Amino acid sequence: MAQAVKTHRSEIENRPGLVGWYDATRVLYNQVVMFYFDLYQAHPGLLGLNQKDALTQAEKLTHRTKENPTPLWPLDKAIDADIPTMVRRAAINAARGAFQSFRSTFKRWQKQKAKFEAKGKRFHPRPPVPPRTFNFNLPFYKKMYKERTDSSIMVRLYSGSSWQWVKLRLKGTTLPLGWEPGSPIITRHRGRLRLHTPLEKPVQKPVKALEQVAHNPQLRVCAVDLNLGDALAVCTILQADGTEVATRFMRGGQELHARRRRLLGKVAVKRSQSGILTEGEVDNVKLWQKIQAIDEYEAHRVSRRIVEFAQAYGATILIFEHLDNLKPQKGRYSQRGNEKRAYWLKGKIVKFARYKAWEQGILTSRVSPAFTSQDCSACGHRPVARYATGEAPLEYRPGGPLYLCPNCLMHGNADHNAALNIGFRFFHRSFRYLSESLSSKGPGVPVVNPIVRQQFAGWQDRRNGLALPSFFLA
Ligand SMILES: [Zn+2]
Repeated sequence: MAQAVKTHRSEIENRPGLVGWYDATRVLYNQVVMFYFDLYQAHPGLLGLNQKDALTQAEKLTHRTKENPTPLWPLDKAIDADIPTMVRRAAINAARGAFQSFRSTFKRWQKQKAKFEAKGKRFHPRPPVPPRTFNFNLPFYKKMYKERTDSSIMVRLYSGSSWQWVKLRLKGTTLPLGWEPGSPIITRHRGRLRLHTPLEKPVQKPVKALEQVAHNPQLRVCAVDLNLGDALAVCTILQADGTEVATRFMRGGQELHARRRRLLGKVAVKRSQSGILTEGEVDNVKLWQKIQAIDEYEAHRVSRRIVEFAQAYGATILIFEHLDNLKPQKGRYSQRGNEKRAYWLKGKIVKFARYKAWEQGILTSRVSPAFTSQDCSACGHRPVARYATGEAPLEYRPGGPLYLCPNCLMHGNADHNAALNIGFRFFHRSFRYLSESLSSKGPGVPVVNPIVRQQFAGWQDRRNGLALPSFFLA
């Protein structure tokens, strides 16, 4: 069994004094974290214990009880406030994480230094220093919250002098069914408080991609080409013999770009009206929020549709390209900004699709983006001609919506061609790895089912021009 994880967010209705209590709680909590971070620095051996034993040990060293009247590092001497057990434990765990990450940074620095000095070079960077303050949000462990309903929750907050039960009114969607909620935290986002709840759900652990390729003659994958144009995603369901089961274009890019460009134009106008801005200043929060919100919405919409499409056709692996680097374009502010955001959107779609797919037992894999839009998906010829309607298909023009292969005369939509190449590349890489590792690595590598190998070999022959392209046979 594996775990699917995500976060549920709801707004907390503001009321007088609430933000003050939230701040007081946070300040106190981070003092406790700092106290335990220092303990970890003095007793780095605690890292050698597992989290549970380290917690017991840290409590023994710091927490005064009847059985333990004189701890070595009394917490009540260091901090003059009552610290509930669950706050103390949360702080010990947070301090452990912080110390772990500090120590690995430090070790990396030491290693680099040793490497430089071994070569007789001087090493300039200073050693990393431990953090002087922390900025953690208090997770509400059990006993720190109660009576959670869809519209409210009781939490314990620090008022500045004592811990009190406070009722928070929640707005937004309810917790989804079938998910196990973990310890919620309160965050502050642009002056508003929100409740974030981590959610967990056990899911069937999917079979590794390589094993699926090696063993399953009926395997279907969903190859996805992401674009900056109107068709944000082009998805094709493929089998190992090159059979194209279905293809879908997920459009809406043009409308999105137009909306975004209008908003970016407004930002530019406001900028020119208000004169030069100091660096780092957010000039128009509302507009930026709007732009962010439409991008986020679109990424969720497209990624959801990709996963639904894959599911509908029984595909068990999603294939994306690795994103190539963003090449900055010339042009007006709104154009440049728009391109940058369209590029980020691709990354978001992959990220969202990955976790949505995982929840459904679908894996995500990525292949190299080199030449996926220049190769002919039927015969492997490079480069194909790309052109727009009404143009002569003479040469490779990046961004042209149509393609024509001068070798086998295959033609059609250029993004569709790219999606087919992405799918082929995945199978090609898998089989190469499977055959290489068979000879070099021996046991542990899945043995390829002969039918599967034969299926792919046929596709590969067509791609290499060793056999007639499939459409000639039709
Ligand atoms: Zn061709």
